[in-house]
Amino acid sequence: MALIQVRDLRKEFSAEKIAVNNVSFEVKEGEFLAMVGPSGCGKTTTLRLLAGLEAATSGEIRFGDKVVNEIRPRDRNVAMVFQDYAVFPHLTVYENIAYGLRARGGYSRQEIDSRVTKAAQMFRIDPLLKRKPRQLSGGERQRVALARAMVRDADIILFDEPLSNLDAQLRHQAREDIMLLHQQRPKPTVYVTHDQSEAMALGDRIAVMRGGKLEQIGTGQDLYSKPVNQFVAFFIGAPSINLFDGRISAEDGSLYIETAAFKALIPAQFNDKLGGHAGLAVKVGIRPEDMHVPKQAPFAVTDDNTIRGILNEIEPSATGSIAYLSSLEGDSEYVATFRIRLPASYIGKEIPLGINMEKIHLFDAASEHSLLYG
Ligand code: ATP
Repeated sequence: MALIQVRDLRKEFSAEKIAVNNVSFEVKEGEFLAMVGPSGCGKTTTLRLLAGLEAATSGEIRFGDKVVNEIRPRDRNVAMVFQDYAVFPHLTVYENIAYGLRARGGYSRQEIDSRVTKAAQMFRIDPLLKRKPRQLSGGERQRVALARAMVRDADIILFDEPLSNLDAQLRHQAREDIMLLHQQRPKPTVYVTHDQSEAMALGDRIAVMRGGKLEQIGTGQDLYSKPVNQFVAFFIGAPSINLFDGRISAEDGSLYIETAAFKALIPAQFNDKLGGHAGLAVKVGIRPEDMHVPKQAPFAVTDDNTIRGILNEIEPSATGSIAYLSSLEGDSEYVATFRIRLPASYIGKEIPLGINMEKIHLFDAASEHSLLYG
């Protein structure tokens, strides 16, 4: 049975400001759900509704078989780790970790001591138990917050962008600590982030939100290979999917895609879904790894499903090189920008890029819905 069940959850801050717009999802026993989306899409508000820090305008939240909408935050038995760690500055590390246990009551001094020591050891902060938070680094404060979530027997764990204040190196370590926490306490978890790579690394499933709505929920692989719309396709995956303006055309019983950069035969397996769409304006999506780069010159062009051009520039970036391809006619007019890994020795050369047409994505240009998935 799903441990968290959210049905038609809605939060209106005002008539114009609908932060969460009839969202439904489930989190199963022991599941780690990453919730991702751009700034302002309603992630934090959804989390605060789960914790009971905001009251829902309508809809239902169930933990197990219990509707919790009317239950006070402290009685929901939820542990929450915030972006700013929310550690108490006047308490020692020990007291910060013990705080939730003392607040709940019912734990002996010995039990508190043993839980705090164990959690501190697990997150490597046991030598720091007597310090105050201002004497800690950001990474150490973060681990105090994790240890505090760990000592409680919370039924549900919620994270609100817990890593965004850490530098890249610490973030990597902290991800591992979060996985450690989840392995030790495999409770249903909702983890909010705006970073899709973090969501992909941590989530058993990922929920993508936009404008208060849930766009798609599924495993990282589902969202990557079968996005239901252009937004999800672009949001998930680094480097991002390449998108081209195009049109579906029909010739001699076959369907083609025509764009300024290439014309390609659509595999027959998609005909059922696309049969009625000849003439439709579409966005064509191609993942960088679904384009084949020739190994070395000379590049024999044999594949019909090929983009050809002169490689003008390669721009290194954190998420993969960006290659700019210009048309063969002249390099003033770019036909395509690819997010793809290419060696610098290719610059100035004419290259063909083969497209794996079995893996393409087609979105209705007007509605942005996928014509192939969803
Ligand atoms: P971020 O990644 O920037 O934290 P988010 O996806 O977590 O964004 P929310 O904080 O849930 O987004 O906010 C969703 C929308 O609701 C935003 O437009 C925000 O301005 C609005 N909002 C949030 N809290 C309130 C509030 N207390 N009163 C009015 N509007 C609010």
